[in-house]
Amino acid sequence: MWCKRVNKIPPFDLSEQIKHIGEEINAAAIEVLTSGRYIGGATIETFETAFANYIGTSECIACNSGTDALYLALRALDIGAGDEVITTPFTFVATAEVISAVGAKPVFVDIEPDSFNLNLDQVEASITDRTKAIIPVHLFGRPVNMTRLMAIAQAHQLTVIEDCAQSTGAEWAGQKVGSIGQIGCFSFYPTKNLGACGDGGAITTSDPAITERLRRLRDHGRRGSYYYEELGVNSRLDAVQAAILTVKLRYLETWNTNRAAIAQRYDQLLNAVAGVTLPSSDPTGRSVWNQYTVRIADATPTAETSTRDAVRAKLLEHNIISMVYYPLALHLQPAYANLGYRSGQLPEAEKASREVLSLPMFPELDPDDQEQVAIALKQILSPAMAVVSP
Ligand SMILES: *Cc1c(COP(=O)(O)O)cnc(C)c1O
Repeated sequence: MWCKRVNKIPPFDLSEQIKHIGEEINAAAIEVLTSGRYIGGATIETFETAFANYIGTSECIACNSGTDALYLALRALDIGAGDEVITTPFTFVATAEVISAVGAKPVFVDIEPDSFNLNLDQVEASITDRTKAIIPVHLFGRPVNMTRLMAIAQAHQLTVIEDCAQSTGAEWAGQKVGSIGQIGCFSFYPTKNLGACGDGGAITTSDPAITERLRRLRDHGRRGSYYYEELGVNSRLDAVQAAILTVKLRYLETWNTNRAAIAQRYDQLLNAVAGVTLPSSDPTGRSVWNQYTVRIADATPTAETSTRDAVRAKLLEHNIISMVYYPLALHLQPAYANLGYRSGQLPEAEKASREVLSLPMFPELDPDDQEQVAIALKQILSPAMAVVSP
């Protein structure tokens, strides 16, 4: 089982969820298994309709992963060689990987230090004749300022593909993310807010032309039985996952509400701990707290390891597993050496990668465990202890 509790406090744990709704999930899976219809069919359509209704778009196209959702979105918009797509370097690699996969060039712009999301001033300043689209990432569940981003995109006639992999259910100004840009891309990887029991993804849009193209591209580009107008990929969501996701979607609001309460509790427990910066929020948006990510001020910015690394190691001694999303920004990854970015060029993303620490966060996190996390962090960071220099 996923991160099964032994003695440590895990960053993420599904065991309580399985205890609570495991039978419902099993029943949904067995129904598909006995039906004999494993690919396509009504189970997929039922999930697609439910998910589109939830997000607030007219269409949902289910696919095999969040990565594929982003890839298919770019294909459906005919973005490819010679095109530039603006995105953040402080995200999971898939966001940029797909831009490269279609032959276009990722243009990384720096982030805001408080939200970890794209710096919109720099987005605007990075637009060129070749820019075709912007991929904002609602990182850790916190929405990007979509009012402002859409205004920038409209002024420059750019398409917006929202990477909603970490933000299923998040809202900006009362609208769900994934319904604000032209296309929304979702991941159902097990640790995401709505997670499948395996891989899965979905694309949301209210544009019928894009929808038709996406449905073809996810199924080898086929139209009809064995006729191909263009080449696509095999990226279907399978029926067992669709059935499970349909069950889990009914619980998502409760889970997201629980996550928000846990975040608020962390805020109270960790308020005024020197050296810890708590995540900020924006009242116009609703975060769904895929992660609760604090910053640990870096006492030795030129050292190989950061103060955060030392704090993380100490937390582990207290049997608390924390995570670092992400330890190296994408513009400095060896895989992107060809783009020619230098260290120091996107300073906020680079600083964040040395300071971020994601604390245990999942809807069933035990309040006592949460308290243990806070007690341990306070102890580790208390000046009297003076143990944190790496
Ligand atoms: C998880 C994730 C993806 C990729 O989703 P998969 O379903 O794992 O392919 C893309 N972007 C972000 C920001 C993610 O967190």
